[in-house]
Formats: sequence, structure tokens, C-alpha cells
Amino acid sequence: MDLKLNNKVAIVTGSSRGIGKSIAEKLVHQGCKVVILSRKIKELNKVKEQINSDNILCYACNTTNQSEFKEIVQEVYDKWGSVDILINNAGITRDKLLLRLNEDDWDKVINVNLKGYYNTIKIVNISSVIGQIGNSGQSNYAASKAGVEGMTRALAVELGVKNININCVAPGYIQTEMTEKLDKNIIDDMKNNTPLKKLGLSVDVANLVCFLSSELSSYITGQVINIDGGMTIK
Ligand code: NDP
Repeated sequence: MDLKLNNKVAIVTGSSRGIGKSIAEKLVHQGCKVVILSRKIKELNKVKEQINSDNILCYACNTTNQSEFKEIVQEVYDKWGSVDILINNAGITRDKLLLRLNEDDWDKVINVNLKGYYNTIKIVNISSVIGQIGNSGQSNYAASKAGVEGMTRALAVELGVKNININCVAPGYIQTEMTEKLDKNIIDDMKNNTPLKKLGLSVDVANLVCFLSSELSSYITGQVINIDGGMTIK
């Protein structure tokens, strides 16, 4: 299927590994010019080497730093003439039960997962099913992801008149470094409680993000689409 993404310019935050890396790879394969961005330039250069395309620019940037991000957007605009797609994917966890959760654990997660999206918001925001169903030890993470979903709906109303579509993709448990940290028993429980009985892959998320970045989704805005193997229907 032709998603008509040829020569579109996309910025993918948090693309040095995991879901962001898969999204960047898919978009390049669909003909996009892609900016990959995270805090570590060395990791980004490795991704560029792996994807092996001239249509990739790498920038080290902390997405919580609004001025740094704006400068990059300007540079990309000057070089490639437009910025058509923004995938707000950078995210972190600092999981602890509320009793042990200190202010720094709260601020870091809210700053990266929520404030960082405000700085860059345009099209696809990556939230999490945890923002909808909650999870013990993840009050900071769940608050940040529920916030992203609310922000997505509000901005869809606000920016629809400018023909900007904003949607949210909410993954369940996807095999990346973020979930590698989890206890094996938790992963096994997760699989048992998921109708499809397995974790998702980064590429599953990337396929949906590509669709939402394309003209094929031009009448979809303000939606949260879960990609979770059916976990949230149980
Ligand atoms: P990873 O931890 O594997 O990757 C996170 C990426 O974000 C890395 O590239 C990291 O690079 C970057 N990053 C983190 N903080 C910042 C920052 N302040 N500025 C710029 N880049 C940053 O995570 P996943 O790929 O698993 O997750 C990607 C997104 O998907 C997140 O928003 C996550 O919450 C969401 N998600 C993931 C699920 C899963 O099961 N894996 C489930 C539901 C949602 P670096 O450290 O070099 O900056």
C-alpha cells in the first residue's frame, strides 16, 4: 500500500532505540526524510549507520529543552524546506510505589513524558495503556501518559482548523529496553492476561504510526488508538 509519504519530512524523538528507532526506520523505508533525535549522538550515529540512508539527520537533544528543540526544527526547515510529521515518542520510567516516589522521580517523568511533548507537539503522540488502566508503582508514569491523551484531544479541537491532525498511540507491553527491566514473573502475567498471549514488537507500533502519519488517516484526529494485543478489553 502506498502511504504517500515520499519526501515528507519527519522528526522522531527518542529514536536511538526501541519503538522510536523502528518508527524512524519505517518512515525512511516509506520515502520520508527523517530526523532522529535523543540525548546521545553516538547512539544516533549507530542507528543512522544501521538504517544506511542519506535521508537521515541526527541531533542530540533533550526534548525537555524547548529552545534547543526549536533551533533544531529551524535547522531542519532551512535544510529540507518543511517539517510535515512529528512523532513525540521520547519517554522514561522511574517506577516506585508512591510511598517511595520522591519529587525528583515525579518531576523527571512528567518533564520528559508530558512537558517534552508540549514543546514538540504536532501529529502522533505515544502514550501508554498504563495511562488508562493504571499500575502499581507507576503513578508518575500513568499521570504523564493520561495527560498526553487529554492534551491530544484538546489540541485536536484547537488545531483542526489549521488542518493539523493529532492522534495518540497507546502501546501495551512492547519488547524494548524499557520493558527488559521488568521482572520475568510480571512479563509472564502480562502475556497470560493478553488475549494474543505475547508482547508486541516495536515494528507493530511503527506500522500504526506510519498509517497515522500518512494521508490515509486524514479524517482521523483526537483519537487514542491502543495497540496492546487486546490487553485493555479484558
Ligand atoms: P526505550 O527506553 O527503549 O527508548 C526511549 C527513547 O527515548 C530512547 O531513544 C532515549 O534515548 C529517548 N529519550 C529518553 N528521554 C529523552 C529525553 N529527555 N530527550 C530525548 N530523548 C529521550 O523506550 P521504548 O522504545 O520502549 O518507549 C518509547 C515510547 O513508547 C515511550 O514514550 C514509552 O513510554 C512508550 N511506551 C512503551 C511501551 C513498552 O512496552 N515498551 C508501552 C507503552 C508505551 P536517550 O536515552 O539516548 O536520550
